[in-house]
Amino acid sequence: MTESASPPVIVKARKAPRMTYKQEIQTIKNLPRAGRLIVIMKIAGVFLVAIGLEGIVTGMYWLTLAFIPLGVFVSMLPIRIKTGVCIACRSPLEPSQAICPKCGAPQM
Ligand SMILES: [Zn+2]
Repeated sequence: MTESASPPVIVKARKAPRMTYKQEIQTIKNLPRAGRLIVIMKIAGVFLVAIGLEGIVTGMYWLTLAFIPLGVFVSMLPIRIKTGVCIACRSPLEPSQAICPKCGAPQM
């Protein structure tokens, strides 16, 4: 009886094939401050582009014109401060490597 009392949330999370969101949160927690900022800006950029796309759907094209360039700009910014190390574990990376060979963290 006590065994079946385990919270269903944990089971659900374990079953998820992709854990992008959870992984992102975990990555953010592990990050040094600069890396954290990069990830937050990337997420913010994606979010802003999503708002822009919403503008197309709803016919509010000013949203699209305002938010898509902004979102692209915000998500491009962190590239400038890329240091050539993994954002999660800080092991050196080749510029072309999108995923850290050591810890598997996506460099986005
Ligand atoms: Zn790494």
